[in-house]
Amino acid sequence: MIAKTRLIPDGKKELKKLSILHYLNADYVYYPVTSERCPDGETCVIGGQFVKVGEVIGTRKASFFEQPIHATVSGEVLGYEKHVDQSGGLVDCLIVRNDKKYEPHESIVERNDADIEKLSREDMVQIVKDAGLVGLGGSAFPTYIKLATKDPIDVVLANGVECEPYLISDYSLMINHPEEVIEGLILAMKTANARRGIIAIKKKYKEIEERLTFALKAYSQHDIKVVKVGNHYPSGWEIETIKSALGITIPQGELLSKYGVLNFNVSTLQSIYSAIRLGLPVLERTITLSGNGIQNKTFKARIGTMLTDLIELAGGYVDLDKPKVMILGGPMMGVNVTRDDVVITHTTTSLIVLNEETEIEEPCVRCASCVYSCPVNIKPVQIMNAYKIRNKDTVKALEVDLCIECGLCSFVCPSKIHLTEYMRKAKTLVK
Ligand code: SF4
Ligand code: SF4
Repeated sequence: MIAKTRLIPDGKKELKKLSILHYLNADYVYYPVTSERCPDGETCVIGGQFVKVGEVIGTRKASFFEQPIHATVSGEVLGYEKHVDQSGGLVDCLIVRNDKKYEPHESIVERNDADIEKLSREDMVQIVKDAGLVGLGGSAFPTYIKLATKDPIDVVLANGVECEPYLISDYSLMINHPEEVIEGLILAMKTANARRGIIAIKKKYKEIEERLTFALKAYSQHDIKVVKVGNHYPSGWEIETIKSALGITIPQGELLSKYGVLNFNVSTLQSIYSAIRLGLPVLERTITLSGNGIQNKTFKARIGTMLTDLIELAGGYVDLDKPKVMILGGPMMGVNVTRDDVVITHTTTSLIVLNEETEIEEPCVRCASCVYSCPVNIKPVQIMNAYKIRNKDTVKALEVDLCIECGLCSFVCPSKIHLTEYMRKAKTLVK
């Protein structure tokens, strides 16, 4: 039987009920010198130096941009250690001993309405660049590059769909601080000279719709609307969200700005607000520990905090006799990790720990469910078969590069074949 699946259990109901613990007591914080997007990096501080919150302590470097690294606590620089970052790999991290005084750096200056009014477009792009802002929905794409587009922009889309199961970071932001999302959206609209803003949320989240609609009453001079999109997966994929929320079809691989659209995750918009209004880089993230192999808990913690601190605070792992599977991020697009000394970075939102159930891969039964479920209309089973015999030409012809690694093909496969993993490998083969 063909199973075309886009509706998947989201596992968020219980997580949404958890209170958020604000954790500021990490004794040591760790700053990766590189990231997936920035394979090079350097620090500009020395052992024994005292640093303050918001101070630039280094720079990550990619071929087309640089991202300053900011201290998120005040304290003493100790040296370097290797720990796991969002990519799942081991990276060099600068260690700062947290003095827990959270002394702000002199460069942090709040702006009032009049100060913001005076800012030019170039000023705002520069502030965002200096704050090192990147896409917090997972893309880690530099925010200032999007904002600096030369294309005429009609609409800025605030993407609050967060369609991956078990992720509630954007949900809690919109419930607890809707005005920060709205102000970030207004600043992005001002920078891009956009006429209107749209906040896209899932249809089923009536409580978010109410919170945002109520908060928007204070900003009635701006053309901003809340639009509901489908509950299916991956309704938060930007191409799909834009189609549902704006009715604009953008071919994959094309720049959204060419169609007059900029798309930002709601957390990224909050970071724009913090950078321009409060003069702050991203200091904290909301992190959820979930899954049946760990005590579930949500935290707000400084970037650089080690997940092991949060795991201990939550009460640790459960069913200690059972082996665990650990996923950084959501279960569909997240990265498997084998150790938990993971450092919280800009894009860390969740650690899922599952008691391992042995799933044995069966042979393909040619049901075509993977093909019918794929949101980008490629043929995962055929790509897998071509990859297995290392047939580069066929893999290429089957357009594996269009795969967004959403995980649906693996999810729907009755034979438990890890198709998404094959897609990743096939992409590497033809790169
Ligand atoms: S992981 Fe790739 S191939 Fe599989 S369903 Fe998603 S987009 Fe399609
Ligand atoms: S790979 Fe899985 S989902 Fe795809 S055709 Fe084979 S059995 Fe069906």
